[in-house]
Amino acid sequence: MAPLERSAWWLGIKVFSEDDLEQLAGRDRLERARLLVDTIDDLYQDEWSICGTVHDDKPYLAMVHHVGHPLGCECACPDGDPGSWCEHVVAVGLCYLDEA
Ligand SMILES: [Zn+2]
Repeated sequence: MAPLERSAWWLGIKVFSEDDLEQLAGRDRLERARLLVDTIDDLYQDEWSICGTVHDDKPYLAMVHHVGHPLGCECACPDGDPGSWCEHVVAVGLCYLDEA
């Protein structure tokens, strides 16, 4: 599956949806994440990951790894155990989805 997903990324096709984020993080976190989208600096993406700096109480570098299922994520915040979908990672995901 991974090569197909990578080519979808290269073609500019979104590799996950807001529904995926809601399933992973839950409705409450999705709503909190929405408020953080405008604070994101330096959104960066490559064929493996999307990352950005989210300015919450402090700036946190958050990442979504979009290759493979399930999606993976990382965040530098205190809630950011590997694979834990905190609002920062979800915000980075939403910011990516908002891009044209
Ligand atoms: Zn976080």
